[in-house]
Formats: sequence, C-alpha cells, structure tokens
Amino acid sequence: MQEVAHKNWSPTSWKDKPVKQLPEYPDQDRLDKSFETLKSLPPLVTSWEIEALKDKLANVAAGKAFLLQGGDCAESFDATKAPKIVNMVKVLLQTSFILIHEMGVPVLRVGRIAGQYAKPRSNDFEMVNGEEIHNYRGDLINGYESESGIRMPDPQRLLEGYHKAGLTLNFLRALADEGFADLHHPEQWELDFMQNNEYYAEYEDMVNSITKAVRFVESIAPDTFSTLQKVDFYTSHEALNLYYDSAQTRPVPRKKGYFNLSAHMVWLGNRTRDLDGAHVEYFKGINNPVGIKVGPPYEIDETMKLIETLNPNHEAGKIVLITRFGKDTVEKELPKLIQAVRREGFPVVWSSDPMHGNTFSTDGGIKTRNFDDILSEVQSSFAIHRSEGSYLGGVHLELTGDNVTECVGGAKGLGEKELQHNYETFCDPRLNYEQSLEMAFLVAREWKK
Ligand code: PEP
Ligand code: MN
Repeated sequence: MQEVAHKNWSPTSWKDKPVKQLPEYPDQDRLDKSFETLKSLPPLVTSWEIEALKDKLANVAAGKAFLLQGGDCAESFDATKAPKIVNMVKVLLQTSFILIHEMGVPVLRVGRIAGQYAKPRSNDFEMVNGEEIHNYRGDLINGYESESGIRMPDPQRLLEGYHKAGLTLNFLRALADEGFADLHHPEQWELDFMQNNEYYAEYEDMVNSITKAVRFVESIAPDTFSTLQKVDFYTSHEALNLYYDSAQTRPVPRKKGYFNLSAHMVWLGNRTRDLDGAHVEYFKGINNPVGIKVGPPYEIDETMKLIETLNPNHEAGKIVLITRFGKDTVEKELPKLIQAVRREGFPVVWSSDPMHGNTFSTDGGIKTRNFDDILSEVQSSFAIHRSEGSYLGGVHLELTGDNVTECVGGAKGLGEKELQHNYETFCDPRLNYEQSLEMAFLVAREWKK
C-alpha cells in the first residue's frame, strides 16, 4: 500500500505548482463554492473497488490477464442518455468477450467513461469572428458553442460533471449486472458487415463457438450464468481538471493514504506529465492505479523518474504505461523504453494506445484516423514486446458503440468522403461499433502469434 508521497502533500498541494491545461476561472468565490460542495458529496466509487482493480492489474503486469481500456475521447454532458450508455457497454462487453474467447485469459474492462469530460488543448484561445474566445476544453470546463460567454470556464460544471458521472455510473452498474445476458443473443452481435472481409469465416466461427460454449455450460450447470452475471466494469478518465479530481480525493477509514473516489483509475496525459508540475504533484499522493501516457516528445530518463516518483514502492498493478508513439515512430522508440523499464525493475502494465499518434486531417480538414494505421501500431507493439521478451498487456482505444463515421477504413472500407455522414465527436475520432469489434478480433490474432 502506497502511503502519502511526502509530508507536505495534500489533495490540493498541486496548487503551489505550475499547472498546465487548466484555465483560470474568472470568479474565485464561485470556484471555491463549487469545490466545497463537490468535496461534500458522496464518492462515486469505493476504495475496495479501486484496490480490486489494482490487484487485477498486478495480474496483467505478470502476464496473466489483459487490459481493455476504451471509450469516448471526450464524453459530453448532453450524451448522458440511455442509448449511448447501452451501446458503449455493449461494445466494450462484446470486444472483451472476443478477447477472452481468443486469448483464454481474464480481460479487465476499464471504460473511458463517467468522468472523461476534460480535454487538453494546444491553445488557450481561438479567434471567432474577430473575437478572441476560450478554446473548448471539455464540458467539465466550458461549453462547446463558439460564443464567448459559453466558452468562459464555469465552476458550476464541476458539479454538473459529478452528477452526470453519477447517473452514468449508476446505469452502467445495472447494465454490467446483466452483462452476460448479451452472450445469449448472438443475433445482437451484428457481424454482417464483415461478410466481405477475408477473416469473416474466422469471426463467424468464433461467435458460434462462444454461443455453443454458453449453451453447453447452461445445460450442464443452469445457475452458472446467474452467479457469473456480475461482470466487472471499471471507470477511468484523464485527471486533467485537478479541481474536479482533488475535491473527490479523500482518506478512507480502512486504509492509509488518499483515494481519488471519482473513478477507479485515472491517467496522466501526455501534455501534463512534467515532473515539477501540478498534475504530477497531485498523482503522487493517490492510491489508485494510474495510467501514464508516453509519446513524443518524451525522454527516457524523465519517464523513469516519473515512474519512480509515482510508484516509489514498486507496487505491481499501480502503473499502466500507455505508449502512443504513432505507427512510424513506435519501432524506434518502444524498444528503448522497454529496455529502460526492465533495467529499473519497474513492474508496469504495458498498454498500447494506437490512436493518439495516428491522427491526421483530410484535405477537407476533417480530423480522422485510419483503421490500418491503428492496426499497424498494435501489430508493431506486439512484435516489439515479443522480441524484447516483454508482455504487452493491454490496449487503450477511443471507440463508441454508435454507428459513427469518424475513422476511415475497416472491413466496410469507410472512405474519407463518408466521414461527414455521421461525424459526431467533439474531440478525437473514434472507432465505430463495427470497427471496434473488428479491431478486437485483430488484437486477439496478434496476441496469439
Ligand atoms: C486522450 O487520451 O484523449 C489524449 C488526449 O491523449 P494523450 O494525452 O496521449 O495525447
Ligand atoms: Mn483523444
């Protein structure tokens, strides 16, 4: 168990450090009031659940399980609606079933959900009709519409974020309780889209085999699925708006130290991991498992110091190192990082985020990602870990259960011209339902090599 990192640490000691990616709120009094209210509200998750996840992540670090982390780039408050949540749970469950079936190891499901409301941006401001207004930083901070009042950081949104996260989580827990019901209905797998794909026969065999296995177990042990019914489902977000996260960071009676009780796992973004910065200061004192995004620009030595700083006791299951180099850079950078981590003896979970290093804009200016580029980084990452004698234990994907058109490629061959048909994301492009299932099959194929 990690204790508080240093004696001057508190959930708000980050305020004495330089903070990136957090705009100044115009009204300190209103900010203080929202912060105090948020501090007094009940936790969204418990320390037991957080510790259970950490134990399971230790199994991933040991090569005995796999981590599937996925969800929207940014959730929006308006999308806190039943069909969206149902579709997200469905796609995460089905992709996890594919992985479990193909890999034969437990799969941890960690959603980018119920709190993924804040986004890092390259610029604080943008010009709209000759006026300089705040950039949109996610619903937790300001509104999307490009109007100066709506773009003003509003601390009331910290409370709205908490309430939306609570509603999402409540429904998510109920759906996860019924999770195995999905397995009984192969027609819900919607695989027709893959019919023209070279792997279709393999996909179909797999779904049939899952269905058969369920029927067989049900016939010999009818109660199995009622006892298995509760599937584990964990939540995560980038702890970017430190007001939101620190107001929900508390001691618990049963353990030493502090827990961020707004999510099971939080991660440190690629732009906020400076050793002397506010975000690292905050992350030093929490007991949750934490993700660290690593991609260009980065330095090996600094990354090693960061891991040591956040996990001085070398606790297994504490750090998920999420690499996001891009398909053309991964071969040069990942081997060095794996070697350095091994040299230091850090027990990290290795995960690959093949999304954030592979974003580009079409000639028409639409931000997208190519399915083949995403797959290429996944393939390279598996191959590199294998040749370094290391274990790639997870993937980190931006995906949705909805039928959006945001990433090009995949079995249906979605083209650039079709992107505008159903381009919904406020932020980065996500794999749609079909692309997500297909990616799961292909991740499992790589894992098995
Ligand atoms: C993200 O995960 O949405 C993100 C912004 O990633 P990164 O910090 O790796 O750029
Ligand atoms: Mn993103």
